[in-house]
Amino acid sequence: MRYASLSLDLDNQWAYMKTHGDAGWQSHPSYLDEVVPRILEFLAARRLTISFFIVGQDAAFEKNRPALRAIAAAGHEIGNHSFRHEPWLHLYTPAELDQELRQAEDAIEQACGVRPRGFRGPGFSLSENTLETLSRRGYDYDATVFPNLLNPLARAYLFSTSKLTAEEKEQRSALFGTWKDAFRPVRPFQWRLRSGELLEIPVTTLPGLKIPMHLSYLIYLGKFSRAAARSYFRLALGVCAASGTQPSILLHPLDFMGREDCPALAFFPGMDMARERKLAIVAELFDILAARFETITMGEHARRAGADRGRLRTLTPVFPS
Ligand SMILES: [Zn+2]
Repeated sequence: MRYASLSLDLDNQWAYMKTHGDAGWQSHPSYLDEVVPRILEFLAARRLTISFFIVGQDAAFEKNRPALRAIAAAGHEIGNHSFRHEPWLHLYTPAELDQELRQAEDAIEQACGVRPRGFRGPGFSLSENTLETLSRRGYDYDATVFPNLLNPLARAYLFSTSKLTAEEKEQRSALFGTWKDAFRPVRPFQWRLRSGELLEIPVTTLPGLKIPMHLSYLIYLGKFSRAAARSYFRLALGVCAASGTQPSILLHPLDFMGREDCPALAFFPGMDMARERKLAIVAELFDILAARFETITMGEHARRAGADRGRLRTLTPVFPS
């Protein structure tokens, strides 16, 4: 059976503002109580169980707890998306990484009642130290690798819309991944580490061409032509099926929000669309996926890929310095 995993990085308004260098993120403005019920309703209507990667800082705030608890109560998998959501996580020392992951695990467990077994780095930030820390802390998988040839374009676009200083841009130079990430495998593989082996489930990009196929990218295409977004997604899933790739599809809260929901994030691609129009595109894309693939959580994807470890490629972590 063909299957596809679905995961949603629960990036909050403040996390986008922080990455973009916008003033006011320090008060941690949140849209979780509004968007989480909308997402849960959308998934429940389609009987989908997916993975949510949650930011520890959000879980630490009492105001976010009802929304986060509802995610776990609906049976979705809960993953760790770091505590402070800093896309320069790869610059942390091993001690800082250990503290960051532990703090997020504790806050997420307090809010949701479960301890995360999977991790995705903020802004796709990854380092050998992060992988070693995850392995030592007993994680089942990492899901940070994003083999996307358009990374530099996305980064340049974000920078062009921001007021970031040269120093802040340097700090964010690996945002959305590095050139090295673009050449990593699209299919699950294993990292060979000092502390053992760790399973990696990359965010799937079009096999061979490494062009994005996550929801935000498809919605952006849909802004210009819904037919083009549908055709490209069908084509991309067809290439996955033909190449034996079980795709892992990435979602974000902004995929379920329109311009009326968060004017502060109008700089983000697709956030100039009306909510209703965007949700109509998203619903079409989900129909296309559900017609071709069984949809599962990242944890289940990791379990199935890990059950056949002998067939997985094993890579040694090499990161640009
Ligand atoms: Zn994120």
